[in-house]
Amino acid sequence: MTFKASVLTLYPEMFPGALGLSLAGRALEAGTWSLDAIQIRDFATDRHRTVDDTPAGGGAGMVMRADVLARAIDHASPPGDARPRLLMSPRGRPLTQARVRDLAAGPGAVILCGRFEGVDQRVIDARELEEVSIGDFILSGGEPAALVLLDAVVRLLPGVMGNAVSGEEESFENGLLEHPHYTRPQEFEGREIPEVLTSGNHKKIAAWRREQSEALTKERRPDLLENERTENG
Ligand code: SAH
Repeated sequence: MTFKASVLTLYPEMFPGALGLSLAGRALEAGTWSLDAIQIRDFATDRHRTVDDTPAGGGAGMVMRADVLARAIDHASPPGDARPRLLMSPRGRPLTQARVRDLAAGPGAVILCGRFEGVDQRVIDARELEEVSIGDFILSGGEPAALVLLDAVVRLLPGVMGNAVSGEEESFENGLLEHPHYTRPQEFEGREIPEVLTSGNHKKIAAWRREQSEALTKERRPDLLENERTENG
């Protein structure tokens, strides 16, 4: 089954961008996923192909028009389309690995990229858009956020990652940050690889990694341990 991504944007040239290379690019060529970048401006109806207008109530910047966006969304996502409709937005629910996994298990996603000050609230309500944020900072547009989301999803699609195990052991997959990694040379600028890792004792190695994971998480992201506790009762 192909994961079908439709991205609504004023800059379709930004796609597939970085996702045309490496793992995601190969998977795109192989048909594991597909990407349709749709120009929102094609759904404007006036002579100047206007997509935005001044904010009601005044203030700086411009707002994307509900009517133009609704036509673009209805074109990309006709009745019966089971794909979730996402709006990249700093006001959205922060993206998590759990949501990424859910999306990867589904048929695809329709992703609306905002520009300017954002989009008219009425189209968010009328088309039941799920607002998704990639972090507490402001981008100039939703396109880089859509690329981030799709990168995270595509690497989970069946057959995309060569070594499936490395996905399962990663940060967040078990509610913890990942342990540190080492590889040759044995000594780098006077720093040795921790001895346990070259001991060949797999039980000890697993225990060491777990300890490191827990210590790192406690130090850097105590909120993750807190979530774990509330989620598991
Ligand atoms: N005025 C808005 C920010 C608009 S930024 C506010 O203060 O909330 C323009 C567009 O960039 C947004 O519509 C959204 O699509 C995208 N964007 C900006 N930051 C983002 C983030 N952290 N996550 C996801 N999308 C973001």
